[in-house]
Amino acid sequence: MTAARQQIGLEVWKFGGASLADGQAVARAATRIAAHEGPLVVVASALGGVTDLLLEGAAHAVEGRTDEATRVARTVRNRHHAAAKAVLGRGRALREVLASIDASVGEYRDLCRAVGVLRHLAPRTRDALVSRGEQLSAAIVSAAIAAARRPATFVDALQVVRTDDMHGGAAPKRGESALLAEKILKPLLRKGVIPVVPGFIGRAPDGSITTLGRGGSDLTATLLARILHARRVVLWKDVPGILTADPRVVPDARLIPELHHQEAAEVAHYGAKVLHPRALIPIAGTRITLHVRSFIRPDQPGTEVSGRHVLPGYPVKALAILPAQAVVTVAGKGMVGVHGIAARTFAAVDAERLSVSTIFQASSESSIGFTVPASEADRAVRGVSHAFRHEIDSGLIDGVSVRRGVSVIAVVGEGMAGTPGIAARVFSALEGGGINIVAIAQGSSERNISFVVSSEQATDAARRVHAAFQLSKIGGGRARALPHTDVVLLGFGRVGRALADQIAALDGARRVRIVGLLDRSGYVFDARGLSRSRLLRLARQKDAGELLADLGGTRASAREALDLMASHAVSRPVVVDVTSEQTGDLLRLAATAGFDLVLANKKPLAVPWDEYARLMAAVTGASRHLRYEATVGAGLPIIDTFAKLDETGDRVLRIDGCVSGTLMFVLSQVSAGRPFSEAVREAVVRGYAEPDPREDLSGQDVGRKGLILARLLGYRGAAAAPDDLVPASMKSLTLEAFMSQLPSLDASWLQRIQREAARGRVLRYVVSATAKGITAKLVAVPATSPMGAATGTRNIISFVSRRYRDEPIVISGPGAGAAVTAAGILNDICALSAR
Ligand code: ADP
Ligand code: ASP
Ligand code: MG
Repeated sequence: MTAARQQIGLEVWKFGGASLADGQAVARAATRIAAHEGPLVVVASALGGVTDLLLEGAAHAVEGRTDEATRVARTVRNRHHAAAKAVLGRGRALREVLASIDASVGEYRDLCRAVGVLRHLAPRTRDALVSRGEQLSAAIVSAAIAAARRPATFVDALQVVRTDDMHGGAAPKRGESALLAEKILKPLLRKGVIPVVPGFIGRAPDGSITTLGRGGSDLTATLLARILHARRVVLWKDVPGILTADPRVVPDARLIPELHHQEAAEVAHYGAKVLHPRALIPIAGTRITLHVRSFIRPDQPGTEVSGRHVLPGYPVKALAILPAQAVVTVAGKGMVGVHGIAARTFAAVDAERLSVSTIFQASSESSIGFTVPASEADRAVRGVSHAFRHEIDSGLIDGVSVRRGVSVIAVVGEGMAGTPGIAARVFSALEGGGINIVAIAQGSSERNISFVVSSEQATDAARRVHAAFQLSKIGGGRARALPHTDVVLLGFGRVGRALADQIAALDGARRVRIVGLLDRSGYVFDARGLSRSRLLRLARQKDAGELLADLGGTRASAREALDLMASHAVSRPVVVDVTSEQTGDLLRLAATAGFDLVLANKKPLAVPWDEYARLMAAVTGASRHLRYEATVGAGLPIIDTFAKLDETGDRVLRIDGCVSGTLMFVLSQVSAGRPFSEAVREAVVRGYAEPDPREDLSGQDVGRKGLILARLLGYRGAAAAPDDLVPASMKSLTLEAFMSQLPSLDASWLQRIQREAARGRVLRYVVSATAKGITAKLVAVPATSPMGAATGTRNIISFVSRRYRDEPIVISGPGAGAAVTAAGILNDICALSAR
């Protein structure tokens, strides 16, 4: 029984117009068909553009432009001749096909002449004219398959597909068609012959030719699959499959790998050209799967549409955009009392056989409206006005109005309308673009939310909604925005680890996660967040000198890594730079890929002005944010204080201070009588210094901080020439040699300290930044002054501003070490997520 019901392995393949563009494309299709192993039915669309041509010729004819119609007929003939010649070598097969093309086109021309005389084109005549496209292409395709040495035969759809009599948009009659298919197609299949059937057309009860509406070959294919109990239908198209939106409207639309029958039906209903609106009807509720696949990339799987429910948690699947619509509204204060307005409105619409895309009603009940294709608006208004003519006469109803130039956008996905938050997200995305919503449709199904906007704003609206649900990303389409801030760490040394610890210790409400790590070898990434144990393990292994690529990570360039991470639906992603390298290029890339930036690394900021400006421009250009509190004073609120003063209209004039925890530590230890060499060594051991302490002692590091501060004040010039505490002779030593020769400096430092001590002064390294420039100097200050009295890694920074001119604001606290630096970073991350 089941074997009989589900014809083992039968497939129905439909080739769309784009897949049959010319002889070459037809040959490619034929080769692919001939190579298929199982039983197969082929449904052919007209060669690309031919249906439009045939309609164009008919339109000329009815206006009396017979010559033009004849010219069109000639073009149609030539295109088919060329295709046939390209796929069929000289011989009988070609002669026969050419003869049938000539006969069919001849009839077309004659019919056009008759139309030209009558100046009337009835829908049934139009169908008879346009049906030729599919018949001709199917004839060529079947000959081409036979030429590829696979038994195939042309079977006219008129013999198999029975429809109602709605010319131009007929509905197939399944039962009758099934009987005919059993009689005509089954015997062929049993003999191993491939029937090639024209799509799009059928026969009405009165024997006339009907068409199933534009794109109707999709429906022919699903109908045949259903009545032949096929296992699957494949629609070969010029797109990779069903995408999250029409790629012509939303360029970053993404392939949807799996979709439920009903979701696909919804996408089709709302006019996504990729599927005929009624194509899913025959196979709904069956186990037949439908594949939409790329004709150009047949190795790719495309989209599978089936009865399986897929992936909960990602309810939003796609957008469909229905252009060129009109809103028809029945309005009037008196309507509230009138009985059955909706029923009568839609009875009138139905009587006109109009295709209504959405229906909406104002909550006050004083208006009811619907959308129809703009070309049908007049008919709709006439029909509805007629139905309510008495109410309009008596003033109960003001009238029936129409607004043209609108488009309907439907957000589609299973169970969506029942999920809270989706509508809010849609509408806030639209609000963000200043897009006016003309109407919101009633959710007649749980599978869509649709709304009407003016056609000028439709593209923008679609793109905004697409972006709001991150539909272009892997894992996009969630009902709500994730509350997380997703952190990608650039570098995973001491500070990175301290940050990971602090993030792990945050209370749950903050929801900061580390999703990726990046080093020079590659990356580790998990969009769900890297677990704490994995991070710990990675930290241990990195300490042992290994690289991420060898630790279960992926080998990749930083650009590849960022691209991959950005292709996932990460939430408020931030790249945190805790390296001490020139990462400017990478940071620009990250900003462009949608990451906010948090830096503890000073180098990308302490670059020549042009380069600095380039980074800032990349950040603002991508509407991203850059924060760098931890670059100066570690966790101390230095940049923050500046920003607050600035925001409130104060003007900061200068910033002075001891901004090097390392130098403070060394100088205060030396002042207290400790040998210079020992103080430096301890700074290194405690992690206060850069890996090579000469970066600190040379004033390089502190100079960078000075430059960062000066740029806050508007300085555009070069870096300072800082006082250098490393003798020239020790510059080029290896780190080890330098450390071992350090004691040779102890005596002179001791002398200097004693000399200043005698005058009540101590040595401090002080940076001063203004809008005009920077100095970074070793200076003697009174031992009792705040700077002089400071010890440890303390930073002391003072702000002189218009408001704080006589007595500056002073910020002071520990300014070096992994934990406080991580705290500064975390502060920035939290500030970003609080936005
Ligand atoms: P066929 O060649 O089978 O007739 P169509 O041209 O009818 O194929 O359908 C494919 C076209 O549909 C694509 O070129 C694309 O522009 C359009 N389209 C609209 N919405 C979508 C969508 N969501 N996914 C894929 N394609 C879409
Ligand atoms: N050739 C018809 C059209 O262009 C039907 C189809 O392609 O499915 O609409
Ligand atoms: Mg189509």
